[in-house]
This record gives sequence, structure tokens and C-alpha cells, in this order.
Amino acid sequence: MRKPIIAGNWKLNKTIDESINLVEDIKIKIMDLDREKMPIVVVCPVFTSLKTVGDIIDSSKSIYLGAQNCYYEDAGAFTGEVSVPMIKEVGATYIIIGHSERRQYFGETDNAINLKAKTILAHGLIPIICCGETLEQREAGQTDKIVKNQIIADLKDLTEEQIAKSVIAYEPVWAIGTGKTCESPEANRVIKLIRSTVAEVSSKDAADKARILYGGSVKPSTIEEQMSQSDIDGALVGGASLDAESFAQLVKGAMLVTSK
Ligand code: PEP
Repeated sequence: MRKPIIAGNWKLNKTIDESINLVEDIKIKIMDLDREKMPIVVVCPVFTSLKTVGDIIDSSKSIYLGAQNCYYEDAGAFTGEVSVPMIKEVGATYIIIGHSERRQYFGETDNAINLKAKTILAHGLIPIICCGETLEQREAGQTDKIVKNQIIADLKDLTEEQIAKSVIAYEPVWAIGTGKTCESPEANRVIKLIRSTVAEVSSKDAADKARILYGGSVKPSTIEEQMSQSDIDGALVGGASLDAESFAQLVKGAMLVTSK
């Protein structure tokens, strides 16, 4: 049984004060939900808000903290980077890696993503490993090949146990921040392909345990259909996670569909 995850990627948004307001609001809106049935809820603010948000959610025990990136070395002469132990120190459990914006604007490679995944898991945290094709690649019929190759490279040399703990997010680049969602059956098809790739490079047991999320313009109006698919274990959400009401609706929508 895979407990679903609803993770909010706040991207480069929200000052510390704004982050406090948002997370306090989210807390209030999901406070009365049944913890047993609730998905794992994760919020991923910018680095400067991590500690403050972490302190606020710490007492609630119903929301987890995530970072949006990390470096794969623990310390040293790497100006401008933030390490996994530092992220762990402020209370984070999850770290997003390989987001398409980082691949596109900051040149993050599959090799770097793989090194980051190894460091994150070595420190007992959970990577949310993003993959997905661009519009050009989809139109050229390369979706399956691109996603498969990303997953094979990103998971290279991870143990079965590490892969079983990991979270993967299938995020078609053309659906991120565009308002266009990938049709649910198609998202499920690609996610099934990711799961069978995980089974090939690791084991069926690891593939059955790893959570695979969908991301790309997820909204309260789409979440139930997405969560009803056989292999979609939750959502990584950008825009709709910046508003407490819509984020809470996503959590509630996910709860209407029982765990797989
Ligand atoms: C994301 O940032 O990972 C994302 C999926 O964004 P949005 O929900 O805005 O498309």
C-alpha cells in the first residue's frame, strides 16, 4: 500500500512573512482532516523560509517540510550551494531534485541528480526525483525513451531499499505552469512505464513501493480523476500550492480516492 503524497513546490515565491501566512492558513484548513486517511502533505518553500516554516509545522505533525534543491557534497568550497545535512538540520524530510526548471535554467544533469539522490538517501532524507519530456520531445514521439533514460540515469547504483523509499514525479515539461494538464490516462500510462523501468533497474518490490506522482498544472478540479488512476500516487503541485484554499482542496480531493 502506497500512502499518497500531495507536495507543494512554492518555487521562487513567498517572503518569510508570506510563507508564515501561507503555512499557517494551510494548517488551519487541514487541521480537522482524518490523519489516517490524509495523504502525506509536503510544503517546499525557498531556502530562506525553510527554518521558519519547519518550526511552524513541527508542532502539527501533519505537514512535512521539503527543500527545492540541494548540493551533493556535505560541505566545502562550493559557494552558493546548500547541503543535505544543512537542509536536514532545519527539519526537512524531502528534497526535490531534477525539476525541469533546474534542468532547463541551471543545467542540472542526470548525473548530478543521481549524485544528489545518493547523498539525500545517505542522510536519511527522501528525494522527489522529477522527470518528464518537453513538448518538442512529445511531438517527436520520444516521450517514453526520454523518461526511461532519465529514470535509468537518475536511479543508477541506488539500492533496492533506497529506491523503495524514493519518490518520483512525472512532470511533462509542457504541462508545468501552463494550465494544460496531461490527460489522466496518458499520465498513468507514462507512470506505469516509469514503474516498470524501476522494476527493470531494481526489483518489482522496489517498484511496487516507490511513490510516483504526477505534476503539471494540477488543480482542485483535476485531482480526483488523477488520483483515481491505478499508478498515480499523488501530485507535485506548483501554482495551486501557493493558495491555502486550493492546496487544501487538493489534499481533500486526494482523500476521496482511497490508497492503493
Ligand atoms: C511544479 O512546479 O512542479 C509544477 C508542476 O507546477 P504547476 O503545478 O504550476 O504546473
